[in-house]
Amino acid sequence: MALRRLLPALRPYIPRFAPLSTAPAVREQPAAGPGALPGRGSAKAVRPPVPAVDFGNAQEAYRSRRTWELARSLLVLRLCAWPALLARHEQLLYVSRKLLGQRLFNKLMKMTFYGHFVAGEDQESIQPLLRHNRAFGVGAILDYGVEEDLSPEEAEHKEMESCTSAVERDGGGTNKRDKQYQAHRAFGDRRNGVISARTYFYANEAKCDSHMETFLRCIEASGRVSDDGFIAIKLTALGRPQFLLQFSEVLTKWRRFFHQMAAEQGQAGLAAMDTKLEVAALQESVAKMGIASRAEIEDWFTAETLGVSGTVDLLDWGSLIDSRTKLSKHLVVPNAQTGQLEPLLSRFTEEEELQMTRMLQRMDVLAKKAREVGVRLMVDAEQTYFQPAISRLTLEMQRKFNVEKPLIFNTYQCYLKDAYDNVTLGVELARRECWCFGAKLVRGAYLAQERARAAEIGYEDPINPTYEATNAMYHRMEELHLHPADHQVYFGQLLGMCDQISFPLGQAGYPVYKYVPYGPVMEVLPYLSRRALENSSLMKGARRERQLLWLELLRRLRTGNLFRRPA
Ligand SMILES: Cc1cc2nc3c(=O)[nH]c(=O)nc-3n(C[C@H](O)[C@H](O)[C@H](O)COP(=O)(O)OP(=O)(O)OC[C@H]3O[C@@H](n4cnc5c(N)ncnc54)[C@H](O)[C@@H]3O)c2cc1C
Repeated sequence: MALRRLLPALRPYIPRFAPLSTAPAVREQPAAGPGALPGRGSAKAVRPPVPAVDFGNAQEAYRSRRTWELARSLLVLRLCAWPALLARHEQLLYVSRKLLGQRLFNKLMKMTFYGHFVAGEDQESIQPLLRHNRAFGVGAILDYGVEEDLSPEEAEHKEMESCTSAVERDGGGTNKRDKQYQAHRAFGDRRNGVISARTYFYANEAKCDSHMETFLRCIEASGRVSDDGFIAIKLTALGRPQFLLQFSEVLTKWRRFFHQMAAEQGQAGLAAMDTKLEVAALQESVAKMGIASRAEIEDWFTAETLGVSGTVDLLDWGSLIDSRTKLSKHLVVPNAQTGQLEPLLSRFTEEEELQMTRMLQRMDVLAKKAREVGVRLMVDAEQTYFQPAISRLTLEMQRKFNVEKPLIFNTYQCYLKDAYDNVTLGVELARRECWCFGAKLVRGAYLAQERARAAEIGYEDPINPTYEATNAMYHRMEELHLHPADHQVYFGQLLGMCDQISFPLGQAGYPVYKYVPYGPVMEVLPYLSRRALENSSLMKGARRERQLLWLELLRRLRTGNLFRRPA
């Protein structure tokens, strides 16, 4: 049994290649703000100027907020900046609950932290807030914030169990895999060093089904509020992570092999989309390595897979390990360290293959529901040892569901050295196959953990060397000519954070969304803890936010507008 069977397993969920076309990669979408404009394909059409946004205008930023909400924000952000309080916040929460009793404690939380960072307890109670924000141009990305309270030991145990296959357990561990794609106990608790992201640990298939049910309820709730909402999902919630690890390794090795071949052809260091291998030279090298016979190799690069260019780029190359080519099962790649040829694809037991298939089925169920109720799915980006697989599976879903408009959104982390390559490949693939590209660009949430893991285990740090380099990567995306009014890229901030960014953007007509967590008070406490910690670590941003809040409060006081209702 092998990972190669994953790709055929995908088959029912993915359409065949659409014919190559020069049709626009991104088509028009219903406007969330100002009128939608033609996408990339009609780049020559006249676009209105990009609307100017003033992020320093406190009155505009808080136009949607009542005065008591501003006061609450100030109080909460101020408390979050108090180190002594933060250091003991867990004990304080415990003691307050004991002293006040559950009902009063819930009330206190709702008047403060919970009320500021969380939308409500369930799908029904969050609706007024969602409608209110929508009226001010800010949409919602729903996220059911309930988290399992696992101890670090439990988390490590679950991680080690769920990231190793039966074959590996029986046959002496995971040491055949690249170090980066093995589970390591010291990094088994994936919550460490991550402030914002929610972390899922695999328990069993029933638990994954229950996560899927939760996401389905989120989709329904989002569909009830608007016809252009989003919900966020994480693939680690939907299946066994071992599959993501192994598939990521396959994709990375295959890409590395391409770059090795490119270096042989004197093209080292070129951007992914500029690297084009000469087919004849490539066939020669592959035959010399003994990877396949010359006749077999000639079959790889037929006009069907390549067109008539006589060159192979990274997208052509990637398609060779698709179910469509039937080639993947024969593939071996040279190991740069040992010089040996190794099978690209790993072995899975029947049960593990079933687990993979179920993960794909769960994604498919979610995407169908999302399409039915008009909600878009954002697939979160996670750790680099899972991310190639997450991104690839998301792309398979995009092929199937982004035919008319973008329904599934992939996430690209700009702190990764290869972020620009990944985005350009996604955009180009969408253009070639004629489906709609949908992206969420973030800087990336796992910086400390990724760095520590790479240093400790001994592989290249996947993260840009500096914050400035990450910013430069972020701004490089502008080279893709994404125009705000095209509604190809959306802005997003967390509920209770950076309102001075979200609301001016929304009011200026940009598509902007708040990440909106919801859930019962006691069950979102871990989320609230992280919010408090994040605000303390992002002191500078929070300080600016507090200054603006003060300005607006004072302005309302001066002008006698303290009790004005947002309009
Ligand atoms: C709506 C929403 C959705 C999100 N979804 C995801 C997701 O799917 N996946 C994900 O990983 N994150 C996600 N995030 C988190 C995001 O990646 C950032 O971590 C978070 O938003 C803080 O970044 P910033 O750009 O707002 O803040 P800033 O303070 O401007 O930037 C901080 C970020 O810069 C980068 N950085 C900081 N120092 C360095 C350094 N020395 N070298 C290189 N890079 C550095 C890191 O990415 C760090 O998180 C999401 C955030 C939001 C608001």
